[in-house]
Amino acid sequence: MEVVAGIKVPTFMESGFVELESKVIGKGKCCFCGACIAFCPRIEAVDDVPQLVEYDALCGMCYTHCPRSFIDIPAIEEEVFGQTRADELIGVKNGIFAARGNDPTLKKSVQDGGVVTGLIRYALDKGVLDAVVATGLSDEAPWKPVPVVLTDSSDVKKVTGSKYSLSPAIVGVKEAIDAGFENIGFVGLPCNIQALRKIQVSTEPYQIGIEKVKLMIGLFCMENFRYADLMNGFVRKVLKVDLEDVVKFAMREGSFWVETADTTYSVLIRDLDQYVAEGCRYCADFTAELSDISVGSVGSDHGWSTVIRRSELGTKIFEDAIADGYIELGHTTGTDLIKGLSRRKKERTA
Ligand SMILES: Cc1cc2nc3c(=O)[nH]c(=O)nc-3n(C[C@H](O)[C@H](O)[C@H](O)COP(=O)(O)OP(=O)(O)OC[C@H]3O[C@@H](n4cnc5c(N)ncnc54)[C@H](O)[C@@H]3O)c2cc1C
Repeated sequence: MEVVAGIKVPTFMESGFVELESKVIGKGKCCFCGACIAFCPRIEAVDDVPQLVEYDALCGMCYTHCPRSFIDIPAIEEEVFGQTRADELIGVKNGIFAARGNDPTLKKSVQDGGVVTGLIRYALDKGVLDAVVATGLSDEAPWKPVPVVLTDSSDVKKVTGSKYSLSPAIVGVKEAIDAGFENIGFVGLPCNIQALRKIQVSTEPYQIGIEKVKLMIGLFCMENFRYADLMNGFVRKVLKVDLEDVVKFAMREGSFWVETADTTYSVLIRDLDQYVAEGCRYCADFTAELSDISVGSVGSDHGWSTVIRRSELGTKIFEDAIADGYIELGHTTGTDLIKGLSRRKKERTA
C-alpha cells in the first residue's frame, strides 16, 4: 500500500476485483453504491451484487473507490472542506436549519420538507448545474430504485420521495459524465457520497471525469435494505401489501410507514432489523458527513427538513435558493436527536 494525502491507495498489482470480492463483498460489507460497477466495464450487477463478468486486469480501481475497502475521513475533510471536524457527531458544518421547498404542487410527492427537490429545481432552473443525478423508480419492478439523470426541473417528480432499497446511484454519475454534462449535481446516501469523495480525492490517474461533479447533496440515513428482503420479503409477504398499491414509504419517529390509498401500516424500525442490508452495519455515517449539504427529517417538525450546510458551495446554493424563493426557513427542534442517532450509528460499528 502507498499512502497519498493520508489515504492508503493500493498499488497496481496489489488489488483488483479479487481483493474487492474477498475483503468487501465476501464479508457482507458491500453497500451496492455502484462505484465499482460504474467505472469498470468488467463489473456488473447480478441480483444487486457486483460481479466480475470478464477477466480482471487487476487495475485496482474498484477497490480504491469502494467506500467499504478503506477510507480516511480526516484526509477527505481536509481536502474537501479545508478543515477537519470540530463536531465529532455531525461533521464539518456551517449551520443547521429547518427548511422546506416552496412549490405547493410538489408537497404531496416530496418525502419531508422537499428541500432536496427545492435545491434541484433551483440549480437546474438557474443553470448552476446542467444535470442532477438522483434516484427514481424502475419500470421493471414497483418501488425498485434506479439512478436518474435529470436535466430539466419540470421532470423533478421522477425522483421525489425516499425509496428504501439499495441502488447503484454512482452508475448515474457515469451516465451524466458520458452524456457530456460539465456541471453535475448528485443526491445520495452517506455511502454514495463517501464513494464519490474517495474518487474525487484519489490521486490515481483514472481519467473518469469526476471533476465534473460539482455539488453533492447527502441524505441522513440510519439504514437501508435490499429490495428483495424489504419489498418482497417484508412488504409483500409479511404485511401482505401489494407494492403497486403503495403510494408512499416513510421512516419517521421510530417506525416504518407504508401508505396505500386507503390504509397506513406501521411497524417499529427495530422490528425490521433482520431485513437491514448487511453492508449498512459497517456504516458509521448518519448525516452524510462528506456532502456539501445534508438533508434529513430528524430534527425538524413534520413537513419540514433539517439541513446541515457544510461546504462553501453548499452554503451558497442553499442561501441563493432561499433568496430566489425556492426554499423557506423554519425552526429546528434542536440537534439532540440528530446527535443521538449519529452516536448510535457510530457506536454500533465501533
Ligand atoms: C434509505 C433511506 C434512509 C433514510 N433514513 C433517514 C433517517 O434515518 N433519518 C432521517 O432523518 N432521514 C432519513 N432519510 C432521508 C429522508 O427520508 C429524506 O430523504 C430527507 O429528509 C429529504 O427529504 P426531502 O423532502 O427534502 O426529499 P425530496 O425532496 O422528496 O427528495 C428526495 C431525494 O431522495 C433521493 N433518494 C430517494 N431514495 C433514494 C435512495 N434509495 N438512494 C439515494 N437517494 C435516494 C431522490 O433522488 C430525491 O432527490 C433516509 C432516506 C433514505 C433514501
